[in-house]
Amino acid sequence: MADRLTPEQRRLNMSRVRAKDTGPEMAVRRLLHHAGYRYRLHSRELPGRPDLVLPRYRTVVFVHGCFWHGHGCSLFKVPTTRTEFWTAKIDANKRRDEAAVVALATAGWRSLWVWECALRGRGRRSPEALRDGIVAFINGETGFQAIGQAEVPSR
Ligand SMILES: [Zn+2]
Repeated sequence: MADRLTPEQRRLNMSRVRAKDTGPEMAVRRLLHHAGYRYRLHSRELPGRPDLVLPRYRTVVFVHGCFWHGHGCSLFKVPTTRTEFWTAKIDANKRRDEAAVVALATAGWRSLWVWECALRGRGRRSPEALRDGIVAFINGETGFQAIGQAEVPSR
């Protein structure tokens, strides 16, 4: 089939691909795959379009970037320029994230948020600890949980 995308469209597509396959998300995928779990990706049919969907466990996983999703952690800092713009944008994302969890729960799905800071930065968890936490959630009955950074020692 002929490639009808303009260079501009192709760039846009590539940037979308990159946005979806971010480092932290790939790390969570690898970790779950190695632990023997199979999942679907970016299900459009589900509220909030979860990053990973485990139908057998009626569980979805979101891997949230701490900036875009407004995590009050050591990786999060409101920009000093255009502060109002960023604050409004991040607040809207947070409201959307929370609404997705509610809509998913209503439809019988359990949601896990894995924050970026659990995977990188000073408070990151060991791969084993993170895997154990995620696996425990998947096999548990908790409706919602968020895994963020471990205690960050103050400087
Ligand atoms: Zn964070």
